[in-house]
Amino acid sequence: MELRKDPITRSWVITGDDVPDSAPRAESFCQFCPDSPAPAQMISNMPGVDGGPWSARAMVHPTPLYRVEGEPSRRADGIYDRMSSVGAHEVLVESFRHDRQLWTASDPEIEQFLLLAAQRIQDLKRDARFKYVSIFKNHGPNAGQEFAHPTSQLTATTFVPRRVLYELRAGRDYFKAKERCVFCDIISQELQQNQRVLEVRDDFIALCPYAPRVPYETWIIPRTHEAAFERLGLARPGSVLDLGALLRRTLQRIRTVTGEFHLVLHTAPNTLHRSKSLDYWRTIDDDYHWHIEILPVVAGKAKSYTFKEVYYSPVTSESGVKRLRAATIEG
Ligand SMILES: [Zn+2]
Ligand SMILES: [Zn+2]
Ligand SMILES: [Zn+2]
Repeated sequence: MELRKDPITRSWVITGDDVPDSAPRAESFCQFCPDSPAPAQMISNMPGVDGGPWSARAMVHPTPLYRVEGEPSRRADGIYDRMSSVGAHEVLVESFRHDRQLWTASDPEIEQFLLLAAQRIQDLKRDARFKYVSIFKNHGPNAGQEFAHPTSQLTATTFVPRRVLYELRAGRDYFKAKERCVFCDIISQELQQNQRVLEVRDDFIALCPYAPRVPYETWIIPRTHEAAFERLGLARPGSVLDLGALLRRTLQRIRTVTGEFHLVLHTAPNTLHRSKSLDYWRTIDDDYHWHIEILPVVAGKAKSYTFKEVYYSPVTSESGVKRLRAATIEG
């Protein structure tokens, strides 16, 4: 596998003919259950809650896209740029139970999972090679789910992924023009208009964005300005419990529409080791604001071509939020 940069969009892609086998493995056991005969390699563990052996743990991905050893060795290839696929690829196991999902777990269990995510990001950002740490979850066969056990995944990369780069640039431009954070402004307008707000819980808001990419797209954002998720997680651990509760309730609502979704955490890139060439690093604490994006996969609702080029959502955020608000959920 190697990384190549598209000279036009400036986005990196990972490509190679040595693609790891993603077909369902023949093993009859689960690599992430506590009693697994051949468990994946463990990286770190969170303490158990309510008598469980552990609550969440990070493990090495059994077929990683990125390898942790070596240098990126970025080099030119004529007009192009390429580098080795150096990085980290981990599985974040959300629960020791094979059937305990984020929407059925207790709030203290979800809290431990979110704290694990914060700790892993913090730890990987100490490595100067890594510019960004992504955490994401693909749930359901049409969303590209890989394992039966409830898991999310983490990648640490030597570049900032495209969508985050767009957000960083847009955040910086908005801040330059208005000296305000665009996400903070979105939150205050959404609270004022109250047409797309799904739920407010303590310091967090769940809302359907004004220009959704897919029906029922939902964002969870802290109301207090903060660029980096892991700083919240480690400095104000109490609020992680509230975040977990809002995440659980939001996923319950979305599951009344569809069981399949993508979830991604967008946080600040690695500012411990500042890039000399990229100027968005300087104001990042003021102009970027971490958030979680949930993109439900609604069968037959998206048109494949328009979806890729111009997003098309046949449900507006105003009607989407009504249906999600009215959803019957537990707890
Ligand atoms: Zn399992
Ligand atoms: Zn902000
Ligand atoms: Zn985002």
